[in-house]
Amino acid sequence: MELKNIKETKNIIEEVAKGSIADELGIETGDIILSINSKEVEDIIDYKYLISDEFLILEIQRNDNEIWEYEIEKDFDEDLGIIFTNPLIDKAKSCKNKCIFCFVDQLPPDMRETLYFKDDDSRLSFLQGNFITLTNMSDEEIDRIIKYRLSPINVSVHTTNPELRVKMLKNKNAGKIYPILERFHKANLEINCQIVLVPDVNDGQELDKTLIDLSKLYPSVKSVAVVPIGLTKYRENLEKVKSFNFDRSSEVLQYFSAIQDKFLKDLGTRFAFPSDEFFAITGKELPSFEEYEGFPQYENGVGLMKSFQIEIEEELKNISGNYRLDNIFTIATGTLAFDFMKEIALKIEEKFKGLKINVIPVVNKFFGEKITVSGLVTGFDLIEKLKEVETDKVIIPKSMMKSCENIFLDNITLEDLKNELKVPVIVSKVSGKDFIDIFRGEVKDE
Ligand code: SF4
Repeated sequence: MELKNIKETKNIIEEVAKGSIADELGIETGDIILSINSKEVEDIIDYKYLISDEFLILEIQRNDNEIWEYEIEKDFDEDLGIIFTNPLIDKAKSCKNKCIFCFVDQLPPDMRETLYFKDDDSRLSFLQGNFITLTNMSDEEIDRIIKYRLSPINVSVHTTNPELRVKMLKNKNAGKIYPILERFHKANLEINCQIVLVPDVNDGQELDKTLIDLSKLYPSVKSVAVVPIGLTKYRENLEKVKSFNFDRSSEVLQYFSAIQDKFLKDLGTRFAFPSDEFFAITGKELPSFEEYEGFPQYENGVGLMKSFQIEIEEELKNISGNYRLDNIFTIATGTLAFDFMKEIALKIEEKFKGLKINVIPVVNKFFGEKITVSGLVTGFDLIEKLKEVETDKVIIPKSMMKSCENIFLDNITLEDLKNELKVPVIVSKVSGKDFIDIFRGEVKDE
């Protein structure tokens, strides 16, 4: 095996877990994996597949360029404890579509460069749960998913009508989705599906046909989430599309109540679930906890409100004794969840004597007023809306910030927000316990 130039290789080890097999062997940060059982490692899927053997010969180029060979005997499911500098061990594949509803295409200019990257990589679907369209994959790559049993795989279907899918994704390869899903079904892979619903495009009869088609692939296709299109004010030069208003959302919910009954009868599951947004737009009562069937599409925004509501009720039930809190708290939310959060706030106020909670809906001026979800509220809009509000503490949901940093989408930091508002700001997870802990005084501002 030839020596690798560290600048060219993708298999650089970033970290070795303490006490792991790699640690015991003395493998270190900066070492490079050259091969496993004489096979080069192309990407993280290859790596995971190759190490799932009980006997391994690991060829490593050490930091001093010496090449070492390690013989390892282990249980087949035992990890080596190696973390790579590039978690995919390869470049992430970008998407080749130009979907009529693409949020990335509707971003304002001058945002963080990473936000403009459109990934569509089956490896990220498997590793991180990203949804993929399967439009940029060769037959060999589909074979590899089946051979390596990469499952569950999350697929953005949108429609099973080939012509319509080509039009919606603006990609001539987009029409082959159903035969690929059938292949996954035959191989017994687990598939979670997602549909972005666009009024007068893939709703109505098209949606019905798509859901019936997908239901034929049950139980491989485990569930389908249906989420409404989101429209920002940055749509110049993009196709004209509508968004969901009260009437259109009510129609969607009416349709789901009938189709879920049918699926429940035929398959024993409701199978397809409308996202929370449809309920928030219409103000219709959320389905019961049981009707979410274990929340299979929680990450897709199906059932977040219900599970939060139930968790809050449970927490409040468990509070014994008299809490007295002579404080004013302000909860900042996107406009969509305003009514919902108001109800939650009233229930909390009843339990904590002397507590006053303001719920403030923050209009999204950054992306445009049609963007109403809390997760896309920016720091600047928060400052503008909250700076005149009299309060002792502000609570914002964690979803408003980057997953591992306290920074909003417009690059305003949590520190900036606190400095501007001059009151403590508490960041809350979407968890009933964490939320109630704030009022119990068990969570401080960060
Ligand atoms: S698949 Fe469609 S929606 Fe997703 S990033 Fe690509 S163009 Fe945008």
